[in-house]
Amino acid sequence: MTSAPVDPPARRRIPAVERLLARPEAGGLAEAHGRSALLATLRLELDGIRGGSGTVPGEAAILEAVAARLRAEGRASLRPVFNLTGTVLHTNLGRALLPPEAAAAVAAVMTRACNLEFDLDSGARGERDDHVEALLCRLTGAEAAIVVNNNAAAVFLVLNALAMRREVAVSRGELVEIGGSFRVPDVMARAGCRLREVGTTNRTHLRDFADGIGPRTGLVMRVHPSNYEVRGFTAQPDAAELHALCRERGVPLALDLGSGNLVDFAAYGLPAEPTVRAALARCDLVTFSGDKLLGAVQCGVVAGRADLVARIRKSPLKRALRVDKMTYAALEATLRLYLHPERLAETLPTLRLLTRPQGAIAAQAARLEPAVAARLAGRATVTRIACASQIGSGALPVETLPSAGLALAPPEGAGGRRAGGWCRRLAGALRALPVPIIGRTEGDAVRLDLRTLEDEAGFLESLDALAL
Ligand SMILES: *Cc1c(COP(=O)(O)O)cnc(C)c1O
Repeated sequence: MTSAPVDPPARRRIPAVERLLARPEAGGLAEAHGRSALLATLRLELDGIRGGSGTVPGEAAILEAVAARLRAEGRASLRPVFNLTGTVLHTNLGRALLPPEAAAAVAAVMTRACNLEFDLDSGARGERDDHVEALLCRLTGAEAAIVVNNNAAAVFLVLNALAMRREVAVSRGELVEIGGSFRVPDVMARAGCRLREVGTTNRTHLRDFADGIGPRTGLVMRVHPSNYEVRGFTAQPDAAELHALCRERGVPLALDLGSGNLVDFAAYGLPAEPTVRAALARCDLVTFSGDKLLGAVQCGVVAGRADLVARIRKSPLKRALRVDKMTYAALEATLRLYLHPERLAETLPTLRLLTRPQGAIAAQAARLEPAVAARLAGRATVTRIACASQIGSGALPVETLPSAGLALAPPEGAGGRRAGGWCRRLAGALRALPVPIIGRTEGDAVRLDLRTLEDEAGFLESLDALAL
């Protein structure tokens, strides 16, 4: 290919806009995308040809390129992908998958008026939290609960509403950073609280808190160490004893749980994780996410003592951090599934995916292997693998779940030396599919963990379009 600029005689061969618009294909494009979008895109394409490589494509080819541009522009930016990374609650891939009941509840209220802040019994103004508060209380044992934009907002609101211009006592071992920009000391400063560090990084005792709590203390906070684990010579005070100490001093004790699970995971054969109910027995307030283990929509919940929740509800920040009717609809519908715990491992997608036995996933890998191999024939070798899934979102970071999947490696004879570049190209081609497939590159293969693959037909259909 030459890259000389289009010379004057060739320039004359570039078709006029009117001529292109008169072609039959243009009619269909104007119908689908609108005449002004078509015109603007056509001009862009012709500008490109004028300043471009020297060759002038035919009229049909120009309109085909315009159609491709319009299709690409018309595609939604936010769209579904296949998360085969092995991380079930993947923050970058949207965390929890909502149950169809939640999707239906959202659809029902999003295009119609609803009783968001309207009490249908009395006809008076209502509270938006009323739609989920009773359910949250029933499922956690809390006296009261409110919902905000996410758990980071919940923590911020608790700190600001209960301890602005006062001290918050926190164990040095829990001054953690939880993903990206959420660092406990920074959040505390922004909430207007003074951090009172207690104990040491590896060991904090009850007496450290006894010394650290004084007349200026507004709150004692504990943070569930979501995404790390300190091993060895470590100690944290007994939760019940700390709670008793706080009660004696008249200071509320809040616990940031991160992942708020409402059921005992051990009962479903999963690694144990404290439930919100168990946590609330040993503190006054908990904060947790709606879209981690709970398996609902992005939001943050503050649950616990009624007098404290009432103070938090009155904060002007609650208004700034409040959530939309769609969030309440999705959260309420998901919480209702918890009223039927016997069916939860079927009805709640997060729990369903986490509890899939390795045998079933391995059988799926065996079933899919020939179909995937046929689609990638000559371009990749496909082998079945055993792998380990992670729960994700900081929940149970050190525990993994035995899983299975497919490894896609360079084709036989391609030589192992360039596997890194080949994997990057394959991963890019998988991301470019109609429904992108996101795997994990490890060693000399792209690995697809099938724990989270439920739509096999859609997966194979998307794979049909692979260009490698
Ligand atoms: C995840 C997490 C947060 C942040 O929650 P978001 O819902 O992502 O805002 C805060 N604290 C802990 C302990 C967490 O695990």
